[in-house]
Amino acid sequence: MRQRAARDQQRLDSGAVTSPKDLESLQREIASLAKRQGDLEDVVLEVMERRESAQERVTELSDRVSAVQAKTDDATARRDAATKELDAEAASVTKERELVAGSVPADLLKLYDKLRVQQGGVGAARLYQRRCEGCRLELNITEVNDVKAASPDTVLRCENCRRILVRTAESGL
Ligand SMILES: [Zn+2]
Repeated sequence: MRQRAARDQQRLDSGAVTSPKDLESLQREIASLAKRQGDLEDVVLEVMERRESAQERVTELSDRVSAVQAKTDDATARRDAATKELDAEAASVTKERELVAGSVPADLLKLYDKLRVQQGGVGAARLYQRRCEGCRLELNITEVNDVKAASPDTVLRCENCRRILVRTAESGL
């Protein structure tokens, strides 16, 4: 279009076109080409502006993706560390339990394991201040007296939840 406008302008300037009608038509064409060029330049400008704002949006979204990725990486690292810690703790507790279980008489261990399954994972409970820490109920006076009278190696059971009661210095007896 620019070339055509330049060619028209050249023809006009050369003086080769002499007829007023042709001159007028040539000038009209030059003017119309100039207007179309202006319109096209506006379109190009608008497209460039839109491209620029799209580019800004891309940058902004990329930044957000990076931030979310960093958070995810951080959470993953913390989860992995916690898992490792829990695994180590579970291994140590399992080993400890094996040692303790090895020192408990077989029939008592069998009873404990049975109760543990029945009582949601806790087969024995500490007797603390006359209260069974398995079911949280306080023993009545008769039960307290029975516990007091029992020999140290008697296996005591909570009358309420049936768990094995473990006596300590803090049992309140
Ligand atoms: Zn109980």
